[in-house]
Amino acid sequence: MPKQIYDVIVIGSGAGGGMAIKTLCEAGLKVCCLNAGRRLDPAKDFRNHRKPWQMRFRGFGDPAKRSESVGYMDSEWVPGVWEHEIRYTTAPGTEWTWPRCWAVGGKTNFWGRSSARFGDIDFLAASLDGYDMDWPVTYAEIAPYYSRVERMIGVSSSVQNRPSNPDGEYLPPFNFRCLDHILQQGAKKIGVPYLHDRIAQLTVDHAGHPACHFCGACTTGCDTGSFFSTPWRLLPVAEATKNLELRTDALAKNIIVDENGIANGVAYIDRKSRQEVEVYGRAVIVAATNVETARILLNSMSRHWPTGIANSSGQLGRNLCDHLYGASVYGYLPQLLGQPSFPDSVGDNTIVWMPRWQNLKDPHEEKFIRGYSVYPGGGCGEYPWYATQAEGLGSSYKREVKRRYPTPVSFTIQAPSLSLDTNFVDIDPEVKDVYGIPCARIHFQWDENVLKMWEHSKQVCADLLRAAGGVVEGSADSPSVPGWSLHDTGTCRMGHDPKKFVTNAFGQAHDVPNLYACDASVFLNCTDKTTTLSIMAFSLRSCEHLIEKFRRGDVRSA
Ligand SMILES: Cc1cc2nc3c(=O)[nH]c(=O)nc-3n(C[C@H](O)[C@H](O)[C@H](O)COP(=O)(O)OP(=O)(O)OC[C@H]3O[C@@H](n4cnc5c(N)ncnc54)[C@H](O)[C@@H]3O)c2cc1C
Ligand code: SF4
Repeated sequence: MPKQIYDVIVIGSGAGGGMAIKTLCEAGLKVCCLNAGRRLDPAKDFRNHRKPWQMRFRGFGDPAKRSESVGYMDSEWVPGVWEHEIRYTTAPGTEWTWPRCWAVGGKTNFWGRSSARFGDIDFLAASLDGYDMDWPVTYAEIAPYYSRVERMIGVSSSVQNRPSNPDGEYLPPFNFRCLDHILQQGAKKIGVPYLHDRIAQLTVDHAGHPACHFCGACTTGCDTGSFFSTPWRLLPVAEATKNLELRTDALAKNIIVDENGIANGVAYIDRKSRQEVEVYGRAVIVAATNVETARILLNSMSRHWPTGIANSSGQLGRNLCDHLYGASVYGYLPQLLGQPSFPDSVGDNTIVWMPRWQNLKDPHEEKFIRGYSVYPGGGCGEYPWYATQAEGLGSSYKREVKRRYPTPVSFTIQAPSLSLDTNFVDIDPEVKDVYGIPCARIHFQWDENVLKMWEHSKQVCADLLRAAGGVVEGSADSPSVPGWSLHDTGTCRMGHDPKKFVTNAFGQAHDVPNLYACDASVFLNCTDKTTTLSIMAFSLRSCEHLIEKFRRGDVRSA
């Protein structure tokens, strides 16, 4: 039997891979998508309005196994959807946490949905402050793709005219909560912005999907598809074309090359049979997320590519950046003590944010370069954190918890690390995963610049809370462990010079023209904004570049 040759093999079906399969299949190309995990069934795998008292362990999972959880999202509500089997390692002195959802749709099943555009303040940051290099793409070039993605997925926000974050095409914003009205007054007094976040969650019905019904369960899966995820929005469109073959439990191991070193397939492990399988295609798109994309490409060694495919620059795996996260301040609003609880169990949502306000007029006006943003949180969520500190016993304890219920607030910083020579991903020479694939090894430390932002944010957020009449109770002793933000970037950076960059401005490997990366691995750095909207905008642009090459007959036969 002749071997089947697909037009494109896409590795991953998260934000980047999902956009790729939709775009390519709609263009009539035959696509095989390899996905490391299984398909989810929202009726069985999501929370579906179950209450804590309906759960054996109140949603937290078996105490004996709780330490194995990769974070709050890996809970009793969604068992078996977060990756535990595939190992990674860290270099001595590095701490890195890497929560991975490898089900179909990847992390889009459970993400936070904050969706701001990058702007020229980000793309041309190096020209402004002299550090590192500019992106090879300007805002004017990528803006139309942002608009198309926003219209496709539905993003709720308001027009804000801020220099740090370009406005987009929005559905009406979410209403502020009581706490937001109070905190906004504090922000005004100290002169910092407090605005609607841009959030890929529907305030009105959109493109056949119903508006959010405020159940507050987003990180345990939306049963109505009211926030963007690949399985609700992109996969059905791709599958309707009949051009997609989705292979689940298919863990990509390496890219296969022909006698000229050009990609012509992917070798993967079928996790059910544990057998190695090969699949062939005319082009390959890697969209397995920043670190895993690097692992696959670094593990693709051959006589043509002795240090990993498309690595003639030596930059593959380098320039790992991440967002520093952490509670800059937490406390409460005494104005709300004893007030009834509000139906704002959207505590799970990023309703508001404080977009970057530092270094806008002069890139060196602060003690650090670039800038950070902040997510204020609060509201009547489940399991208020202060309950473990409340005084009393029995009914007096419960009364105290209830009295404070609408009052807690917190501020979470989102600050970009700078690219450093010492922060990178390589392959651990000693350790393999259970399928015999060499593991990714992470080398990472926070840089001085980002730690200055962390200190700065603690001061500003405390000032804001006090100016709003609130009580500051503390801040996190240290930032979260690196990797926790899940917004890491940079292992296949894009740029014009093949000696300095892995991919060109379209995410196409300089060395291997039928190989593309469609995730945050191509980003120069992580800016102060979340990455997913940009992953989709860049993936859309890369895929249309590849489609055009197919149209012109520029893609070689496998
Ligand atoms: C709780 C939470 C909150 C978040 N909040 C936000 C937010 O507010 N805003 C934001 O922008 N982002 C947020 N994120 C991050 C966001 O989910 C990611 O940026 C986005 O999903 C990345 O898209 P991706 O396609 O690169 O990777 P993913 O969505 O992780 O998808 C990766 C895909 O690759 C597949 N894969 C991996 N390795 C292999 C392999 N070897 N072989 C085959 N397939 C493979 C996986 O199965 C998966 O389908 C959040 C994430 C979480 C979990
Ligand atoms: S709060 Fe809205 S978007 Fe989130 S899970 Fe519930 S209905 Fe879906």
